Amino acid sequence: MTSTAPQTATQHNVGRASIPVENPATGEVIAQVRNMAVAEVAELARRARVAQPAWEALGFDGRGRVLRRMQRWLMDNADKVITTISAETGKAYEDAQIAELSYGAAAFEFWAKKAPRYLADEKVRSKSIFVKGKRLMLRYRPIGLVGVIGPWNYPLTNSFGDCIPALAAGNAVILKPSEITPLTSLLLAQGLAECGLPDGVFAVATGSGDTGAAVIDEVDMVMFTGSTATGRKVGVRCAERLIPVSLELGGKDPMVVLADADVERASNHAAYYSMFNCGQTCISIERCYVEAPIYDDFVNRVTEKVRAIRQGVPAGPGSVDVGSLTFPPQVATVERHVQEACERGAKVLTGGQRGRDKGYWFEPTVLVDVDHDMACMREETFGPTLPIMKVKDVDEAIRLANDSEYGLSAAVFSRDLARATAVAKQLNAGAVTVNDAVINYLALELPMGGAKPGSGSGHRHGPGGIRKYCRQQSLLISRINPKRDIHMHPYTARRTRLLGRALAIFNRGLK
Ligand code: NDP
Repeated sequence: MTSTAPQTATQHNVGRASIPVENPATGEVIAQVRNMAVAEVAELARRARVAQPAWEALGFDGRGRVLRRMQRWLMDNADKVITTISAETGKAYEDAQIAELSYGAAAFEFWAKKAPRYLADEKVRSKSIFVKGKRLMLRYRPIGLVGVIGPWNYPLTNSFGDCIPALAAGNAVILKPSEITPLTSLLLAQGLAECGLPDGVFAVATGSGDTGAAVIDEVDMVMFTGSTATGRKVGVRCAERLIPVSLELGGKDPMVVLADADVERASNHAAYYSMFNCGQTCISIERCYVEAPIYDDFVNRVTEKVRAIRQGVPAGPGSVDVGSLTFPPQVATVERHVQEACERGAKVLTGGQRGRDKGYWFEPTVLVDVDHDMACMREETFGPTLPIMKVKDVDEAIRLANDSEYGLSAAVFSRDLARATAVAKQLNAGAVTVNDAVINYLALELPMGGAKPGSGSGHRHGPGGIRKYCRQQSLLISRINPKRDIHMHPYTARRTRLLGRALAIFNRGLK
């Protein structure tokens, strides 16, 4: 089974001219990509800066036409895109279809349509007497060159997906995908070129973490998705350059199941959203807190559903439910969490072992008798495991759910919607779902981001999801223009008294 895995992808490939891309479900090398050096990234940036002004000048309509063509291209090439994603990630065909292809297609349409609205000039009103009669406006101008650095778990959704609003806003973009999964980005770059994106506006900088660092050194803004540890390094590097950065980082998302929940629905959601994409989703359910009266029933149902999951090498539609892990070191992380939990008294109800075939495998696993000192309840596992903990009441569930350095997403299940919503509001997570999970990510109108530093700062989707790729420009236009304004030099006692009276009247009026 697993060959000796590198600790991080970056350490493994530093200094190499090219990087082998593996199918993690079979262990076969399926491609080689360039490990771009600093000079190559600088050249991509130079070309991008030359191309950007014309792209901006195309306006929303011109850019929207290219994005809508790309939406059609994605659907016309759906099978090729899904197969490429599945081959470099090891994920099931349907995982790529539901959470990547469908997201990408919707995102092209969404940002083409919403960019003109979210970035429209805004008329601003001011209470200041000094600007009475003047026209005030807020504009959103593209920031210039955006660097998007992405992880390996969703090469389309979480790497390429963030390029779409950046492009819609009129920026040029350099995308640095994970070295583990660069092929989807290269395929989509080809699609963008076929759809008429001008040369140089979008480039893929393949390579290791060093290539990512080189991207940061060239761009005007960074959109980073990845681990909390790398996010910290990226944040520091951006701070040194004084450029803005948006960080979408890790999660340890809790699910709270109240005693009055529909146990069948809750257990289906727990089983699916913990194992979907082999558990490698930043907002997957990573831990469950269940009120005592329904605990046994819930655990039995979840275990039965997880045991029924068909895991194997993806071979097209319907072939498997869950594929392999994508990033080789994940096998060791998942195994460590399960073994450590068992050494401290937890029980495995199904799964619990790494796979024996070539590739990177761990069985879908349900753990019970866990507590909050265990790594499986505190650290991001990012694998096919679901630890379930019995709680005596809702207060204990809320306290434990919030006892984490992460705060990305959370879920509450109860038949009493008012009560569940009240509980949802007490959870420290950027997004909370009631009687549902994960699916909120596909509502592009709804902002998505971390509520605690461990899960990042900034967010994607909604108006802020495109405005972050812009500089705000304030405009003041003076329409009534005397030769000299009343507050200017030379100061005289008479005018000062007049101004004093005006200020007094005005500020009384404000009370
Ligand atoms: P990493 O942090 O390891 O890597 C993310 C990206 O950063 C990769 O492209 C990586 O390159 C690159 N990189 C590594 N070192 C540097 C550096 N010094 N400077 C610039 N770039 C660098 O994350 P993973 O790829 O392991 O992704 C998994 C993580 O992503 C999980 O923690 C998950 O929760 C999180 N995630 C968060 C999401 C969210 O929306 N909040 C969504 C999806 C995932 P390379 O791969 O070549 O080393």
